[in-house]
Amino acid sequence: MKKQRIGWIGLGNMGTPMALNLLKAGFEATVYNRTESKALPLVEKGAALATSIQELVDGSDIIITMVSDDAAVKAVFEAPGGILSCSGLSGKLAIDMSTVSPDTTKYLAGKASELGLAYLDAPVSGSVKPAQDGQLVILVGGEKAHYELAKPIFDCLGKMAIHLGASGAGNSAKLAINLMLAFYFEGMAEMVLFANQKGIATADMMAILNEGAMGCGISKIKTANLVNNDFTAAFALKHLAKDLRLAKEQGLSTNVGLQIEENYRNASTSGLGDLDSAAIVEFLAKQGR
Ligand code: NAP
Repeated sequence: MKKQRIGWIGLGNMGTPMALNLLKAGFEATVYNRTESKALPLVEKGAALATSIQELVDGSDIIITMVSDDAAVKAVFEAPGGILSCSGLSGKLAIDMSTVSPDTTKYLAGKASELGLAYLDAPVSGSVKPAQDGQLVILVGGEKAHYELAKPIFDCLGKMAIHLGASGAGNSAKLAINLMLAFYFEGMAEMVLFANQKGIATADMMAILNEGAMGCGISKIKTANLVNNDFTAAFALKHLAKDLRLAKEQGLSTNVGLQIEENYRNASTSGLGDLDSAAIVEFLAKQGR
């Protein structure tokens, strides 16, 4: 069977390695990014460069978006020249892999369906390294038949794809798993700060964590960041703050959940937003916690 032609919009920390994996697997891909220079590494690997979204739609069967947040996805779909203003959408499939509100997903899926464009939400769990390794976990909402159509793509980007229900279900699951991620980052940060106050080194605490049952992939990946105080972003703190805000808007109401949402929100607006999410430790340290 001929491979579907992919149109990829959004070449940031995640979009770039994901689109590269599709190229490596032999998919024909056209790419578009608001800041065009970020598309050039993909073009060097064989992707076609679209200078407009219409050009991308014309050369694609499946249009994938991987952009920052609700405003970015809405801009890509609804702004003048955006996906929904393009001709030739009928019979194609859009897959939004960004993490956004389930309400935004349902809204855009409704608009797309009026034009005959099928729509899946397929946010991912896993950061830059799993994206590079094709080891993401892909959380899918929308019609099962469309999920099946997209499965060869998901198989290339991730180690697992799961169909969770109707439109928005992928993003609901994504907000839940990122709530857990925020708890874990907060927990590691509090562990380190408490231990430091007692004269125990960060490297020793991370070794204790990683060797025990509470250590996990994320604690191992973030150990170097915490030990070296290097918070170059893999998953920017502003994005996790966004996910917690979305979880709150979707009904998160526990004391701990709301406190952590407030911590990330304040950390993001205090200048740490472009650092990695593990930089919550810097915010808590400044608070004297
Ligand atoms: P990123 O590095 O900040 O990249 C964001 C992308 O969105 C860029 O291509 C950017 O274009 C584009 N964009 C932003 N605003 C736009 C607008 N108004 N119109 C058009 N394009 C716009 O973000 P990322 O880390 O790749 O994350 C992408 C999504 O995946 C987010 O929803 C995030 O929550 C989710 N996610 C991230 C991770 C992670 O570890 N990084 C893990 C799982 C899920 P420009 O280049 O022009 O700025």
